[in-house]
Amino acid sequence: MYSLYIHIPFCKQKCRYCDFPSITAVSTLYPTYTNALVYEISLRRRELGAININTIYFGGGTPSLMPINLVTTILKTIYDNFTVSNNCEITLEANPGTIDFSYLHGLKQIGVNRLSLGIQSIHNNLLKILGRIHTFQDADITITNARKAGFDNISIDLMYGLPTQTMPMLQESLTWAVARDIQHISVYGLQIEPNTPFYTMCKSGQLSLPDEVLVEKMYDYINNFLPQNNFHRYEISNFAKKNFASRHNSAYWQDKPYIGLGCAAHSYYKQKRFYNTHNVNEYISQCLNDTLTYEQEEILDKKSWMEEFCFLRLRMTEGINKNEFYQKFHCNIYSVYAQIINKFITKNLLTDTGTFIKLTPLGMKYGNIVFEGFLL
Ligand code: SF4
Repeated sequence: MYSLYIHIPFCKQKCRYCDFPSITAVSTLYPTYTNALVYEISLRRRELGAININTIYFGGGTPSLMPINLVTTILKTIYDNFTVSNNCEITLEANPGTIDFSYLHGLKQIGVNRLSLGIQSIHNNLLKILGRIHTFQDADITITNARKAGFDNISIDLMYGLPTQTMPMLQESLTWAVARDIQHISVYGLQIEPNTPFYTMCKSGQLSLPDEVLVEKMYDYINNFLPQNNFHRYEISNFAKKNFASRHNSAYWQDKPYIGLGCAAHSYYKQKRFYNTHNVNEYISQCLNDTLTYEQEEILDKKSWMEEFCFLRLRMTEGINKNEFYQKFHCNIYSVYAQIINKFITKNLLTDTGTFIKLTPLGMKYGNIVFEGFLL
């Protein structure tokens, strides 16, 4: 079973913190980009044969900028070329303020069954600082419209550690979220990435960020509050009601194969990683001239595969299944990692349940230290 990721690299405007591969493009480029995707789908079909698809994810960028007829064309081409399972999870990332009821209804009609909404905060002053194009009211209406259109699997993104954000503000966003009829919440701490307006503002002292102590308190609050409100934590930043964990994102953390379509999209199968050019125009031109080549190809050796398997699995609360490790690598995990596992167990960052080796709540907080330890 494969997962399919489709990258839509267009945004109305760039958010000030964002370093994702997206451009603010004129909408006339959307049909041409769709033609390029159609080409790439048939190319992958020739390479991979009639593979089975278990999840499809439209990510971006802002996929909800693409008109319904173009999303339909992409989905139809996928169905024409691959075997899509009956219960395939089909997610589309949407930005509130770009969609109305008829768009959501259209998505539901063509088979999209999961929405991921970038909401970030319920405070309009914070949304403005972030450079988001929508207000909280837009977000709230979008959820109501999505429910009316028949979506019963809705995920939202929230952020913490934002400039001028206080603890009560975060609490209000979370309280609103758990009271809405949604099934999944991803909560990310703000990272100041190079080559973003926030980076420049931060360097010149124009960004009023909460201090480290407050950010840590926010982290603790989130990880207590959401599980107390029926949102089970299944990955470091992801919380879901029962049976609503993202199957697509879980595939990344579970070492399952995935195919990325579109500019900047990454693929992984048979221990091989590769990705397409990040340049939208170059991607389109390569596709339309039948010269699409991977930007970089990497074949994971056993050591790199083992490292990646461990730290991706550790991101999930379930942790590393020791039997699965043995089946994949033909050795006991302790024969490779005994020293590091015992060290982190002593420090209360890891625990061994007998079947699984997993992060403790403290280990979840300081995950990066543990992941580094698993580099051989
Ligand atoms: S909408 Fe998403 S992808 Fe687009 S600029 Fe904002 S954060 Fe980046």
